[in-house]
Order: sequence, then structure tokens, then C-alpha cells
Amino acid sequence: MKIFRFILPLSLGLTLHAENLKKVEDFNAAAAKANAVLTLPDWPQAPEAVDAMMKNAIDTANKALDQIGAQDLSKVTFKSTVVALDDLGWQASNAANKAVVTKESNTDPKVREAAENAVKTFQDWAVGIDYREDVYKALKAFANTKPKLTGEDKKLYDETMRDYRRAGLDLPPDKRKEVEDLRKQLAKLGTDFDTNIVNAKAPLVFTKAELDGVPDSFLEAPGVKNPQTAPPNKNDLPDTLTATYTVLANVTWHYNTVEDNAKNEATRKKLYIARDSLAKDTNRTVLNQMIALRNKIALRLSYKSWDDYQTEIKMAKNGAGAKSYIDNLTKGIQPKFAAEVAEMQKMKAEDIHDPNAKIGVWDWRYYSNQIKKQKYNVDTEALRDFFPFQKVVEGMFNIYQSIFGLKFEQIDAPYKWIPDLQLYIVTDSASGEPLGMFYLDMFPRDGKFNHFAEFGIISGKQLADGNYQRPVCALLCNFPPPSADKPSLMTHSDVEVLFHEFGHCLHEITTRAKYGRFGGTHVPGDFVEAPSQMLQNWVWDKKVLDTFAADYRDPSKKIPGDIIQKMNDAKTATAGVFYRRQFAFASLDLAMHDVHPEKADWDCVNISNPVLEKVFLPIDPSTTFVTYFGHMNGYDAGYYGYAWADAIAADMGTVFEKAPQGYLDKQAGMKLRKEIYEQGDGRDVAVSIEKFLGRKQSVEPFLKKIGVKGGDKKKAPAGPSKEQQ
Ligand SMILES: [Zn+2]
Repeated sequence: MKIFRFILPLSLGLTLHAENLKKVEDFNAAAAKANAVLTLPDWPQAPEAVDAMMKNAIDTANKALDQIGAQDLSKVTFKSTVVALDDLGWQASNAANKAVVTKESNTDPKVREAAENAVKTFQDWAVGIDYREDVYKALKAFANTKPKLTGEDKKLYDETMRDYRRAGLDLPPDKRKEVEDLRKQLAKLGTDFDTNIVNAKAPLVFTKAELDGVPDSFLEAPGVKNPQTAPPNKNDLPDTLTATYTVLANVTWHYNTVEDNAKNEATRKKLYIARDSLAKDTNRTVLNQMIALRNKIALRLSYKSWDDYQTEIKMAKNGAGAKSYIDNLTKGIQPKFAAEVAEMQKMKAEDIHDPNAKIGVWDWRYYSNQIKKQKYNVDTEALRDFFPFQKVVEGMFNIYQSIFGLKFEQIDAPYKWIPDLQLYIVTDSASGEPLGMFYLDMFPRDGKFNHFAEFGIISGKQLADGNYQRPVCALLCNFPPPSADKPSLMTHSDVEVLFHEFGHCLHEITTRAKYGRFGGTHVPGDFVEAPSQMLQNWVWDKKVLDTFAADYRDPSKKIPGDIIQKMNDAKTATAGVFYRRQFAFASLDLAMHDVHPEKADWDCVNISNPVLEKVFLPIDPSTTFVTYFGHMNGYDAGYYGYAWADAIAADMGTVFEKAPQGYLDKQAGMKLRKEIYEQGDGRDVAVSIEKFLGRKQSVEPFLKKIGVKGGDKKKAPAGPSKEQQ
């Protein structure tokens, strides 16, 4: 793996050498002028330093909690209670953020292990804050003064008190204890649920004939082809006929590759049944206990259901809001979904010579793939030549700098966990005000976080002295490393991921929210992805792509327009099936967490299977999809948020699409920065979205985007907050 580090600086021809780079101190004067503070994280570099960092952060926070709890209750103020809590939470979570990034990126396994323990220590400690009686008394004493607050202060106060109520603090002591115990039991079951998923295995053995259509690259992959047993006699059959292959239903890429490509329906169905029965014997009971506990907690806290409890702090506000939103999308997409299924049915009828063939859950991947292959033959591998890593990064920087009125400059990083780590400072291009910094750690290596994500490190916050602490964040990605004879060449989907993740970075850095709780991406879970999902549109647009995508061997060659058109067509060709499946997951999740009588007996599979079948496609009745649905611990009554954010993303995209310069429009970009990014959660995001749109929200652009002609005439249902209706 080391080799990447040596090759990398060469391939990144434009990376400056450290001696030419400015330092963060060079920006201090400009920061001071804007009452801003720039701070680079002090990274722990040894296991002891990680332990000490977390211990120190928790000690400091505990002292601050003691101080809140010990104050004279007749003299409590907003600052000595609500703001003091935000201050200490911010300080402690900055340490936790550093531990998380260290855990995911440090090259020393011992440092990573210490960081993992530090994160666990932090989480345990954080849960306990809710139940500090002395602190709650001080907050309650402040609430009793009936404070008259406005704007962000009022929002902070309301939400802080809401947290206490949601933890059961304003219940009588015995009931509070019960809620606390129920929460602990639920947390433990959640861990069991996750463990059962990790431990669930389903290896299936197939012959070559059964795997007809599956690419050789898969069949030859390590661990798939089984070793041949000794030939029983001399008249042994040739290798290709006797070879067997083990497909692991629990390994997603195994599952997807076979389901996408296997021509044999029996193979697809067998594998699907194995997959959708994973953890059946363990998690059915566990999930039943979990939904019962959630229901109990909700009822003790005077909510009518767990989905009401979970959505209260989201844009949806209540379970009915989330449900009606999803129901409307499900209905809106019906014509497109029905047309796609009909097309698949026709193909299957011809394949199996049965005019009455039906498409089941085990068929949709195969026929989606067939439609894409037959109708829109796009060579995704060949497209890589147009996306050399450094040109893509520079191209994206140019676009984002231009539309958001920003300037990115590489600066010297005093501590680098890898040699090719890059650090940038972001300034406002008009005023020169420094806004924050970001790290780029872009290529894979052993022991590193294996996806693509933005990590907040220091959140933006107004400090006690009135200055503003500017944020710092990091992108940890795994783009293809350069090889000996080629630069790093990205797939189109890699480019889309980069535009998405970097959007989170801008959300983080340009924030002007006053409190740590509201800074940057600390927005409701059903909104946080929307701005970045919107930015994914950029890489499907010829005008945008032409600004940077060019053949690395001959930069005069751009991606032909008809290829871009085909890519777009292929994307929408099976969007109906893709989204109906998403809506089915969202619906069954909400159904499981809807109103249930406490005493009655109900079962997760009996609730979810009929919904899956009704909203998506026929299932096999023996399957138990939800027992292996990891989202049911953590995203419970929250899965709808993906579709919710998708619909908002499409809606927000129209502001650019209607602007004179399209996705390169500066006015629309500045509006996004001011109305969405800078606000964070300091103002209700539903209000921010409306200000950005200049109108009420609508699901029509989403339906149009996924190929429902003309979109649905209905306006967005009553999802967003009450003041908008
Ligand atoms: Zn994201």
C-alpha cells in the first residue's frame, strides 16, 4: 500500500510543495478583521494521547455540568443554563469528532484502537448527561422564569427542554426510572439485532449451468469457485461441467452480481429466499421485543406511537406526515412503476415461454439490468478516461468556488497522518473572510474507513467573547489509486460521490449558526442529505461536464452529447422500480412503528411482509425481509427520510435549472449558500427551503425527474412544519 504515497505526488502534478504553501497563521489577520477564529485540530498521535484527549474533554465537560448544577437557582440565566450546556456539548463533541476521524484514518492500529475506545467512552458518557438531576433542576428553574426569547435563542431553549422531556425527565421519578430502564433494554437489544445481522451467513452452492449469465470475473473471484475434489474415476467430466461455486447470500456484492445476471429464475429465487431469510431465527424475536419496547417508551412519554416520537424532531414532525408523504409519492409513481413492470413481464414471458409470467422480488434486478444493457448500452469503464482524479477535483473546485462565491487555497498541514494528506482553507471570495478548513484523504489503504464520507471535526459556533469559531472538516474517500502507467481514473459514479460529499463539506464550512447544536450539517435527519443529493445533478449535465471532463490522453476530447443522454436515459429507465422498493421499505418501517395497543400481540414480519408485497412486488411467503434490515436499529421510523430528502433535492434543483446559467448559476449558488448552508439548523429548515425556493415545496419536480411525465399535479403533502400550510 505504501507505493501509493510515492506515486501520488507525481500524479498530482499541481500539488504544491510544502515550502510554497501558506500557513494557517497567514490568515489570522483576515480572520481577526472578520471576528473569526481559525483553529487547526491538535491531533493525538499516540494511544496515550487519544486516551488523555478524551479523558480531558470529559473532565472539562463534567466540571461545566457541576457548575450548572451547583448554581443558585434564583439567579439562573439563559447563559448559565441553556448556552452553558451548548458550550460544553460542543467542546466535548469536538474531541469525540477528532477521535472518530483518528479511528477511521490513522495508520497505526494501536492509535485506531485507542480512538475506538475513546468513541465508546464518549457515547456512554453522553447518554448519562440526560439524567443529571442537578443540571435538569437548573434548566427547569430557568424555564420557570418564563423567558422571552426569540429566533435562534428560542429554538435552542425549546429544543434543549424538548430533549429533557423526550428522555422522560419531567415524569414522576418512578415513571422516569421506567423510561430510563426501557431505553437501556432497547439499546441492548439493538446491539443484539446488529450482531445477529453480522453473524448471519447463507452460503449456497451452484453449478456453472445454474449460474449461466453471471460474469466470469465473479465466478473466478477468490472464494467463489470451489476446489475440485479428486476425480472419482478416469472418465471424469471436464472441469466446466463439474465445477461448483459458492455464493454467499449475506455478502451484498455476491448477491447483487448473481441477481443482476443469472438467467435462471430458480437460481435467482433460491438466492433471494436465502437472503431475505437471514437472521430469521434470531432477529424475529429480537425485533418484536424492540418494537414493543419502543411502543412502550412512546406511550410512557405520551406519544401515541414510536413514529410520532422519532419524527417529532425531524421535518416530518409526526408519523402521519411522513406516511402521507410516502403514500403520495407511491401513488404518484404508480404509472411509471406499472409501465416498467409490464416491460419486464413481457421480457420474462418470452424468456420462459409463459405469457402469464409475473415479476417477483427475485426478478427485478435481472430485468432492470437487461433493460439497461439492451436499450442503453453505455460503457462505464471507457468513461473513466474522461475523469482523471486531479482534473475532476480541480473542476469541481472551480464550479463550487464560482457559484458559491468562495476561494479554496491549499495550505500547509502541520500534522499529516499520511504524507499526501491535503489541507485547504476556504475564504469568501468577495471579502477575503476566512470561513474554515478541510482535509482531503482520498485514497484507500489498509485499516482506513472503507467508504466515502465527510466528517465534521470542529463545528462552527459563536464563542463567549463574540468571535466566531470557524469549522474544520475532512473528506475520507477511497477513489481508485493511480497505477504505474495511468493517473487515478474515476468512474462516473465516483465523480458523483465526490460532488455529493464535498457538498456536505461546504454545508459544514460556510455555516453562520450561532450555536454548536445548529452548526453546518447538524440539521434534521430527513433533510441533511438533500443539498448534496441535489449537487449530484451537476455530473449528469453536459455543460457542467464539459468544464472539466476530458480524455486524459487528449484533453481536446469531451464526452459526446449522445453518451451523456444515454446515461441519463438509462438512469430513469428503471427509476420506477428502484423508488417503489424504497417507498416499500419506508412504508413497512412506518407501519411497524405506527400505533399499537400495548397489550396486543403483533409481529414484525406479519406487519411488514404484506406492505412489501403491496407497495413493491410479490414475495415468497417464507421470507422475513425485516430480520436482516439493518436500518431497523438506528433508522427506525426514519427510513422515509431518504425519499423525503430526494424529493426536496429535486425541488431545490429547479432553482438552478430555471436560472440563466443552469447548474453554473452564481445567483442561485449564492442563494443556496445564504438560505441553506449558512443557516444550518439555526432556523427551521422548512423555512430555509421555502426561502431558497421562493415558493412552497412541491413533489412535482421529483416525479418529473424520475420520469413520471409532467409530474403529479398535487402539491407536497403536509410534511413540513405547521406554519407553512
Ligand atoms: Zn451524504
